[in-house]
Amino acid sequence: MGKVLIIGAGGVATVAAHKVAQNPDVFTEIMIASRTQSKCDAIVKAIGNPNIKTAKVDADSVEELVKLMSEYKPDIVMNLALPYQDLTIMEACLQTGCNYLDTANYEPKDVAHFEYSWQWAFKERFEQAGLTAILGCGFDPGVSGVYTAYAAKHHFDEIQYLDIVDCNAGNHHKAFATNFNPEINIREITQKGQYYENGEWIETEPMEIHKPLTYPNIGPRESYLLHHEELESLVKNYPTIKRARFWMTFGQQYLTYLDVIQNIGMSRIDEVTVDAPLADGTGTAKVKIVPLQFLKLTLPNPQDLGENYEGETSIGCRIRGLKDGKEQTYYVYNNCSHHEAFLETGMQGVSYTTGVPAMIGAMMFLKGLWKKPGVWNVEDFDPDPFMEQLNCQGLPWHEVFNEDLEL
Ligand code: NDP
Repeated sequence: MGKVLIIGAGGVATVAAHKVAQNPDVFTEIMIASRTQSKCDAIVKAIGNPNIKTAKVDADSVEELVKLMSEYKPDIVMNLALPYQDLTIMEACLQTGCNYLDTANYEPKDVAHFEYSWQWAFKERFEQAGLTAILGCGFDPGVSGVYTAYAAKHHFDEIQYLDIVDCNAGNHHKAFATNFNPEINIREITQKGQYYENGEWIETEPMEIHKPLTYPNIGPRESYLLHHEELESLVKNYPTIKRARFWMTFGQQYLTYLDVIQNIGMSRIDEVTVDAPLADGTGTAKVKIVPLQFLKLTLPNPQDLGENYEGETSIGCRIRGLKDGKEQTYYVYNNCSHHEAFLETGMQGVSYTTGVPAMIGAMMFLKGLWKKPGVWNVEDFDPDPFMEQLNCQGLPWHEVFNEDLEL
């Protein structure tokens, strides 16, 4: 049905590549390209399909991307590198006539700030080129938006209160590790919190608002209000929403380490100058480093957490609103076992819950079900075929009606 180019060779790309390879009727040709080609080759080896091609590309360079894409000519590019590369990859897609999908919205390297405006600004150009761009197609953002669209389509006349709840109740037996790229993860959770209420965005101090929420098959876990990118598109697409919030669980040990990292300046994203030893041992030279990028090098690699990871994730949407004039509540969620994710793909549950929806989004496009010129968030498309695939591709979902949402 179509040719796919996966950019990136980290945890999420590894899972997506496994799932793409498991669906050969849809993905007829596959290429994985990243900064370090040996990582792409290692993914191909793990999958065991020598027909998958690999390449080296620096996705910060539009020129390199354009060269690769005009040679390979993919139908769709799955951007599973970092949010910093979103704009260069979108630009290269426009220049070469390729469709686009990603799992995280653009962030400039020098400011820890994420919002959709930069990517939404490409809308007209994608429309004019007749190309589709699907933004934020991981789990959250991603499935969280599809769940909301499904709820709006089937269970509510009016969604009024939306809470996205993300629990990782797994244990990787490390003192401190992040579940996806440490730099992106720490930038995200050390920012101020933010939620939407009655038409306004309300800012909170980082981790200021928290409460225990009960997760299916897991039990109560302290959950912290964070700002999360999908809230921005969801409140725009569902204007009846009075309040929208995002909650994520953190263990006490994780928060203690995070506190220390911040207090000693290791989460800084500005440059500091250090004296680095010269290779020939003759002295030192002044070198600029970003503390958070240095910290990333010393922390466990999220891709290596899978082997001893126990427990599961539970991510869902808790929604309150009106149906046929009556108030009702709805909770739709998935629980994903880290160990089962590892057995299938060699990666832990957080990479799995992101890589599987990314593959399904690309599948929706290639099947012609999610194909319309422009730049779109996932809730702009029909949720039904995506929801059906979640059940077939390893992320089954469950629904609970009219129970206490705790929120
Ligand atoms: P990793 O750090 O494991 O992988 C990132 C990959 O991108 C690496 O292979 C890296 O190459 C490659 N890369 C980085 N810079 C470049 C560049 N300039 N050119 C080419 N390749 C580059 O990250 P994850 O797999 O954990 O995360 C991938 C994406 O998924 C991120 O954007 C993250 O924010 C997003 N995400 C989304 C979630 C969701 O639910 N929506 C949840 C979790 C993650 P190298 O190996 O050489 O460093």
